[in-house]
Amino acid sequence: MPEDYGRLMEEFGIRSFSELLPRIPSPHKLMRRGIIFGHRDFESILEAMERGQPYAVMTGLMPSGPMHLGHKMVIDELKWFQERGAEIFLCVADVEAQLMRGLTPEETERMAIEEYLSNYLALGLRVERCHLYFQSRNRLVKDFALTLGTRVNLSELRAIYGFGGESKISHIFYPLIDVSDILHVQLREFGGPKPTVVPVGVDQDPHLRLARDLASRVGLVPPSSLYHRLMRGLLGEKMSSSRPETAILLRDSPEEVRRKLWDAFTGGRPTEREQRELGGDPSKCVVFELLAYHLVEDDAELAGIAEACRRGEIICGECKHRTAERLEGFLESCRRERERMLPKAGELAKASF
Ligand code: SF4
Repeated sequence: MPEDYGRLMEEFGIRSFSELLPRIPSPHKLMRRGIIFGHRDFESILEAMERGQPYAVMTGLMPSGPMHLGHKMVIDELKWFQERGAEIFLCVADVEAQLMRGLTPEETERMAIEEYLSNYLALGLRVERCHLYFQSRNRLVKDFALTLGTRVNLSELRAIYGFGGESKISHIFYPLIDVSDILHVQLREFGGPKPTVVPVGVDQDPHLRLARDLASRVGLVPPSSLYHRLMRGLLGEKMSSSRPETAILLRDSPEEVRRKLWDAFTGGRPTEREQRELGGDPSKCVVFELLAYHLVEDDAELAGIAEACRRGEIICGECKHRTAERLEGFLESCRRERERMLPKAGELAKASF
């Protein structure tokens, strides 16, 4: 585990997820492979699952850029929870995209439908069974954010988010909308207090800490959270929708996939001879990450690829070629399904509240 994840876990009381694995029947591959590495209070979700009691999963999408494989991870996880009886709340953070990225309402709606909801359906999430809502239309979330605002002061928000005298008021208020998104699923309108889990990256932990504090102040159950290792960008840095060369987009053509993979950062050696002699290092390799996070379901097969890499039995060019074939097959079937699902995505967006 990267050092900074270990430090964050210690600093903010995030616990190791692996200790819970024996309690989870058929854990998802993201769980088995340590990609979901940490949790806060996930036991309350497990208890609800074991007892057949209601529980919720809350997540959001920001319609401000194209969907990439990093976004797909959360959808895979939502499907796993949906198959296990979770009530899923899906927030389209269109207000956030408009405030923070300067997009128009028309742009955010189009992107939500064409880039996200149609892909979610294509990936097998039953969006029609989720509570889907757009932040701009959800009066309940906005009203509840105002109520939550009466239970927190500026010093607390400053301590969590580091706001200064130059901070825009909308940026200061926005965390309350985020917290309201997380907590409103426990309001009377949705059946009252219940365990809720929010899958997040560690960078979103401040919202979770604020949500847990505020939940206790308004008589709700403090939400649980799951923490993911983020996929690295293809060039070894952070993946970003605004830098398409760092990520595999769900719309990438076969040519784009090959070009991006060819330039991708690997754990290989400078020459073929050295790699045959000394082997590669899959733990440093973003191509191996693509296989582990998305393209290989079977753990034994994945372990076989890692071993072949370490022994120098496979070299990077060949490995990239095989990975590109898998990826192209996946993206092609995703493209076909996305096109088929586009009208349904539009209808669901229109019918959402
Ligand atoms: Fe990565 Fe494959 Fe090269 Fe190993 S052989 S370093 S897994 S690209």
